[in-house]
Amino acid sequence: MTERNLVLLGPPGAGKGTQAERLVADFDLPYYSTGIILREAVEQGSELGKQAKDYMDRGDLVPDDVICKVIAERLDSGEADDGFLLDGFPRTVGQAEMLDGALDARDRSLTAALLIEAPDEEVVRRLSGRRTCVKNQHVYHVELDPPKNEGVCDQDGSRLVQRDDDRPETVRKRLSVYHDQTAPLIDWYGEKALLRRFDGTRTPEEVHSRIRATLATLALEAEI
Ligand SMILES: [Zn+2]
Repeated sequence: MTERNLVLLGPPGAGKGTQAERLVADFDLPYYSTGIILREAVEQGSELGKQAKDYMDRGDLVPDDVICKVIAERLDSGEADDGFLLDGFPRTVGQAEMLDGALDARDRSLTAALLIEAPDEEVVRRLSGRRTCVKNQHVYHVELDPPKNEGVCDQDGSRLVQRDDDRPETVRKRLSVYHDQTAPLIDWYGEKALLRRFDGTRTPEEVHSRIRATLATLALEAEI
């Protein structure tokens, strides 16, 4: 069977989360979001988890090499033998080189870096329209998915607010950080012919079927 070793890239609000859920369900891939696997390593209390916890307790960023070791641990666990879906790592060229090294050491390689793109203005529109209920964090969108009564959660009647992360000025700041860090990474994967681009302004169904078609083509090419 062909491995599907995948990295998911794209700005916040481009629909990465939705696509990740579908890919994980389609191919039964383990989903490695940096936040989740670091938390799991901490919960397991492994030596690596303890290291990560020290940084997190101090409010520091967990260094790249620790994150990469946590990923490598998961690669060696057997659960990722048919592939994996990485989200949130790598974010920089340095991290990508580190991941490359870890895969190389295991005689494996990345299948593709899937980039889901959306123009900044679309991201701002999507994210700044989001409203979250204060009680259970149910999410709505003022244009795309409004509640029946303005400002009130349909499910529990609690108040809907805009999270700080979703304020337009915060979204723009996050986008500018994303572009600064990720543009070189996109070029890097492009040069390695691993980059596959998807238009995140299309419906989630369309994006999903295009990703599936691309993966099917890559699997065919791998067999030749
Ligand atoms: Zn609610």
